[in-house]
Amino acid sequence: MDFALTEEHRQVQKMVRDFAAKEVIPSVGEWDRKQEFNPNYLTRMGELGLLGISIPVRYGGQGFDYISLGLVCEELERADTHLRVVMSVHHGLNSQAVLQWGNEDQKQRFLVPQARGEKYAAFGLTEPNAGSDVAAMLSTARKVGDKYILNGEKMWISLASRAHHFLVIAKTDPSKGHEGMSAFLVTRDMPGVTTGDIHGKLGVRAGSTGWIKMEEVEVPVENRLGEEGEGFKIAMSCLDNGRFTVATGAVGLIRACLEESIKYAHERSTFGNPIGKHQLIKQKIALMQQWYDAAFLLCAKVGVRQGRLDEERGHPQHPRDRPRQVVRHRPQRAGRAGSRPTARRIRLQRRVPGRALPAQQQGRGDLRRHERDSPDYAGRLRAGLPQGQAAALRDACL
Ligand SMILES: Cc1cc2nc3c(=O)[nH]c(=O)nc-3n(C[C@H](O)[C@H](O)[C@H](O)COP(=O)(O)OP(=O)(O)OC[C@H]3O[C@@H](n4cnc5c(N)ncnc54)[C@H](O)[C@@H]3O)c2cc1C
Repeated sequence: MDFALTEEHRQVQKMVRDFAAKEVIPSVGEWDRKQEFNPNYLTRMGELGLLGISIPVRYGGQGFDYISLGLVCEELERADTHLRVVMSVHHGLNSQAVLQWGNEDQKQRFLVPQARGEKYAAFGLTEPNAGSDVAAMLSTARKVGDKYILNGEKMWISLASRAHHFLVIAKTDPSKGHEGMSAFLVTRDMPGVTTGDIHGKLGVRAGSTGWIKMEEVEVPVENRLGEEGEGFKIAMSCLDNGRFTVATGAVGLIRACLEESIKYAHERSTFGNPIGKHQLIKQKIALMQQWYDAAFLLCAKVGVRQGRLDEERGHPQHPRDRPRQVVRHRPQRAGRAGSRPTARRIRLQRRVPGRALPAQQQGRGDLRRHERDSPDYAGRLRAGLPQGQAAALRDACL
């Protein structure tokens, strides 16, 4: 497989990187602090074509490949997780599902305006008492003539209070468990649909997360996605699409941590030198770069395969675990000063699960481990990295 980025990929990457640098990073910390969603980011993402980046041109999208979708997610998550979440739900969980499962009429009515960024889309699967255990959901869809009557409540739904369109899963035959579920395209203007926001989240605080309530909502049969009883299958395929965007976003989170770490390694001095001159810190930075490369390449492989073989979808769990490890190293490097990190560093730490132990404890433990294990330290470091990478990183980064 050839993972080299094409000129087209680089243009997409640069466009999103510029958007993030000029229009998001300077202000997003304030929105995160206020725990409010800035609708202008979403408008601009639509204007830039990001909301339909990998949807075919004939359905209003940009027609780029999955590698491009991955690059968009990486750059957005590097700026702030909530922008990548928008891509996950609007593009991955909703639009790609309509492309995959919808008929031509549904594609024209729902997919085209979504891909053009004129309408926003959400995905409603989770309920107050049904998360991982999807089949435990209580939402129902009762068929009456040429309509379904939907009742139920969806919880933890990204863009709940912003989206125009919702892809909702409900039970058409509760006696059949996961085989009795169906998928529906519900619109905000349907009588009986109400939404609200969830406040006080630990992470993704600039993001829009909320609930959708459906009370006797009449959904025309033309809005059923796929066949009756295919809801579980459709939901799982949506999650597959979403996973690719989450994984590629995680690559961006690793990069954000790496960049901040390198910056801090230059800023902070101990024993008369920037901490980046100490061998221990060099090793940590080199490992972070190694994880980034591994995660990036794994996602690229999935992107290539997803593009080639639609039915053979990847499950890039590996990169999702990486940010936790990257951040675990950061406060150790920061020492005591790390307990007073910048606002961006605080947000980066909050954006990944698994907090660090108090900085001094970890830092000391690390140094002891380093002393214990260090005689052939540089050699082992080189052995753990591709040829020449450790030396190149030492010279280039620090
Ligand atoms: C910011 C945010 C945005 C979200 N956006 C959306 C959205 O747009 N649409 C949507 O439908 N949902 C959304 N969700 C919901 C999310 O997908 C659910 O949180 C997820 O499905 C897990 O469900 P749960 O939180 O109910 O956890 P639970 O299912 O209650 O699980 C609790 C814990 O138990 C573990 N666990 C569960 N079952 C098992 C098992 N069999 N073996 C071992 N461990 C197990 C889980 O891994 C988890 O750690 C969002 C959530 C968040 C936080």
